[in-house]
Formats: sequence, structure tokens, C-alpha cells
Amino acid sequence: MLEAASTLFFITKTMDKKTIQEIKGKLEKERADVADRLKEFATEDPKLKGDWDTRFPKHNGGIGSESLEDAADEVETYATNLPIEYNLETRLKDIDLALGKIKNGTFGKCEKCGKSIEEKRLEIYTAARLCLKCQK
Ligand SMILES: [Zn+2]
Repeated sequence: MLEAASTLFFITKTMDKKTIQEIKGKLEKERADVADRLKEFATEDPKLKGDWDTRFPKHNGGIGSESLEDAADEVETYATNLPIEYNLETRLKDIDLALGKIKNGTFGKCEKCGKSIEEKRLEIYTAARLCLKCQK
């Protein structure tokens, strides 16, 4: 009981409920957007939640210069998608972490030094895990 009360105190002290609700909505929308983008070229590992694999584009396996060119294009697409996938996957994990923090009342706190993350920073990147100083 005492613990829940102090958590509530922390939230009301640093951010009002309305702001938290807005942030939560923003994060949930962002999460759906990122997941949609990932689904375009990657598949979530059914055994490992949150782990996405870039699909290797299948080529028709025909013979001739045209199909070879196609295959080269596909390899290139795959190579381009890999870092994007990694980026989106990291963002998705950050968003999930942030949503979890809203739940337990630690949202907006730097994971390293424990101080409040600058509001300006949270405006730009809601799922930020570190304050500006610790990020450097
Ligand atoms: Zn910090």
C-alpha cells in the first residue's frame, strides 16, 4: 500500500495524469506504426517475442542475365533492409520498455543516473531511456 502511494506521488509530482495518458497514447500509436513498417519486410520470430527477421526476397530461379540481375537486386534490398530492421526493432523494444515504465511509475527517469529526463528530449523521442548527459 505504502509503495503504491509513493509511486503515485512520484507521477503526480513529476508529470500530471493527463500528460502521462497523452504520452501513453503517443507510444501506443508509434508502436503500431513501427510494427506495421517491420511487417512489410520482416517476420516476428514466433518463438522469441520482439525478435524480427528480415525476409530474404525470393527470386524465381530462372536462368539468364535478367534473373541474375533480379537476384542481385534482391540481395541489395535485403542488405538495405537489415539495418532498418535493426533500427525499428530497437525502437519497438524501447517503446515497450517505456510503456512498462508508465505502468510501474518510473517513466521519465534516466536508467543510468536516476534523474528526470529532459522534457524536451522526451518530446522528440518519447521512448528515451537515458538523459542527455548520460547519452553522450
Ligand atoms: Zn542520466
